[in-house]
Amino acid sequence: MQAVFYAGHSHIDVREVPTPEPKPGEVLLRIRASAVCGSELHDYRGPHASQGIAGHEGAGEIVALGASCGLAVGQRVAVQVFSGCGSCEYCVAGDPEHCAQSRFHGGTHAEYMVVPASCCLPLPDDVPFDQGVLLGGDTIGTPYHALARLHVSSADTVGVFGCGPVGLGSIAVLRFLGARILAVESLPYRRELAQRLGASVALDPADGDPVKRIRELTGGRGVSVALDCSGSPATTTLALESVGIHGRMAFIGEKPEATVRPSPQFIRKELTAIGSWYFTAADYFHILELYRRGLQVADLATHRFPLAQADEAFATFASGQSGKVLLVQ
Ligand SMILES: [Zn+2]
Ligand SMILES: [Zn+2]
Repeated sequence: MQAVFYAGHSHIDVREVPTPEPKPGEVLLRIRASAVCGSELHDYRGPHASQGIAGHEGAGEIVALGASCGLAVGQRVAVQVFSGCGSCEYCVAGDPEHCAQSRFHGGTHAEYMVVPASCCLPLPDDVPFDQGVLLGGDTIGTPYHALARLHVSSADTVGVFGCGPVGLGSIAVLRFLGARILAVESLPYRRELAQRLGASVALDPADGDPVKRIRELTGGRGVSVALDCSGSPATTTLALESVGIHGRMAFIGEKPEATVRPSPQFIRKELTAIGSWYFTAADYFHILELYRRGLQVADLATHRFPLAQADEAFATFASGQSGKVLLVQ
């Protein structure tokens, strides 16, 4: 089968490798759509060639089963990337990423992939694979988890700081919820896309003082909810400064450190802040319900490539001149 590997220094190798075989409790998937994720860029740009197959957002159909796995050949699924022990408090809650025995199952950028049966989120027949990969992956799953935990409603004015895939996915969900959306993003392509997807404004952080602009746009109050969706420490400051009194905030974009000022940014505002990572199986079923009621995700994917053109797919995504980039088969 064909499979995609990072070759180091922003190069991709598409190589022929043996098709894996499912062991007991596992399934073999024929991948139909796989999405390039922002978190892959670190390995893509890094100096080393990867050992494992790239990609961790995928949707496809089951073509073979290991013994006793409880699923059927022909079943359509989205891939949830974490598996766990199956019986601890986190696994039972559908949150295996927190399990002490958590395992990450990458390798969606390939014709076939083997995963444990527990990683298969059933994909209904009316959801195309190229949308299922967004609904059952980081693009919608990760923002939905944060927005649900913050109880965001149509009464909220939400600042989305950073409009990479997770920021753009947040905007898609927020538009469905009817919230007012103020986006902040440094790349022009993604500001334009943020507005097309439903942001009422998309501010360039380099153009004047975005915190002041957000205050002006909210009658001096600031946003009621701030989502920090970028890997840049600067967006944490922008989000914390832009959120108003009694505001809520989610840290979603991974970053090892950022500066916070507890008194003005947290205490005096009585801020509620959460960290939010990935999503649960229960979130996925709620997301399918939203999709059936009109959640629009198709426009989040701006580019599609066959697996053989994965090099071009990654170059397009890394340029910032795209929304979500899909490998379709
Ligand atoms: Zn991802
Ligand atoms: Zn567990």
